[in-house]
Amino acid sequence: PSTGATALAIGVMHGDGIGPEIVPAAVAVADAAAARAGFGIEWRELPFGASAIGTHGTPIPGETLDALSGLDLWVLGPHDSAAYPVEFAGDLTPGGVIRKRFDLYANLRPSRALPGVAATAPGIDILIARENSEGLYADRNMAVGSGEFMPTPDIALSVGVITRAATQRIAHEAFRAAQSRSKHVTIVHKANVLRLTTGLFRDVCREVAADYPDVRVDDFHVDAMAAMLVRLPEQFDVVVTENLFGDILSDLAGELAGSLGVAASVNCSSRQAMAQAAHGAAPDIAGRGIANPVAVIGSTAMLLRWYARRAGRADVRGTADRIDAAVAATLAAGVCTPDLGGSATTAVFTDRVLANIADS
Ligand code: ATP
Ligand code: MG
Repeated sequence: PSTGATALAIGVMHGDGIGPEIVPAAVAVADAAAARAGFGIEWRELPFGASAIGTHGTPIPGETLDALSGLDLWVLGPHDSAAYPVEFAGDLTPGGVIRKRFDLYANLRPSRALPGVAATAPGIDILIARENSEGLYADRNMAVGSGEFMPTPDIALSVGVITRAATQRIAHEAFRAAQSRSKHVTIVHKANVLRLTTGLFRDVCREVAADYPDVRVDDFHVDAMAAMLVRLPEQFDVVVTENLFGDILSDLAGELAGSLGVAASVNCSSRQAMAQAAHGAAPDIAGRGIANPVAVIGSTAMLLRWYARRAGRADVRGTADRIDAAVAATLAAGVCTPDLGGSATTAVFTDRVLANIADS
């Protein structure tokens, strides 16, 4: 690939379990697609996860955090923090440390049925914009520290926090995304019960909507939304919601669209973005060469698209589109890994994607 002024620097952390099998697939695919567009990617491999415990004594070394602060883009492999030695048991997961340190407040998770992948909802094509820094997830509440506590051994409390500022920034993210999609945002809350918190979330999203007159807006209670997603999935475009609701709805939407192995996501602030597949380290199949790389490849394409929008780089946007098209063509041809009912290995699948990129 050519290098020079237009080369992109991207941090890369392989992680645990199937991470070292699928992350290099995403790197190879992104390299090949970027080369077709005439720019290079400079990958900075950073220690992370179980292997970093061996080499650096911690799953998320200071040198990795330092390197990330100098980068705008990175790809994070899955971590299997449940399997770390007991002395790390009380810690925030390494992904959580990164998310918090860099205030990656938006988790963007698309769910779209792909040809060749059996989907419960073949018409689904939505993007969930999940607020990632506060809400009903106590561990993420920067406003109140951990947010979960036990005044007595028999009473456990959790504090939910919604702020105007954090709601505004995720709402802008959602409405901007909708402008390049079908121009429809659905606000999800539970304002009939969690009146103050999710009521504020709904109201602030409605206020932000006024800045985007070309985008249609509606809102649903989260329980009704779960039912609607199953009943009429094709009616939705962008869904904006708080942390806990977003976590649950994105698993629901991901499953409606196919499987965990194809669910991509990006975590971002206005300054930096991190590609991270929605699935975990899949220790049950690690080391067998059969993991599905589609989610991490798709997450990497999202990362490039995020950067393209910010930097105004049509060549990078085209590269993301080329990656998605090559993956879709591979799946449509019936080449897929065992989790999707196929027999392709990670390597066979990736080679086919690379061949499709070369032909595109
Ligand atoms: P985490 O707590 O990190 O989210 P998890 O318990 O939700 O992890 P995953 O690691 O996501 O679990 O795995 C759930 C199931 O999905 C496992 O059976 C795993 O093998 C399968 N799976 C997840 N990702 C993939 C993939 N990329 N390819 C194939 N199978 C996968
Ligand atoms: Mg999980």
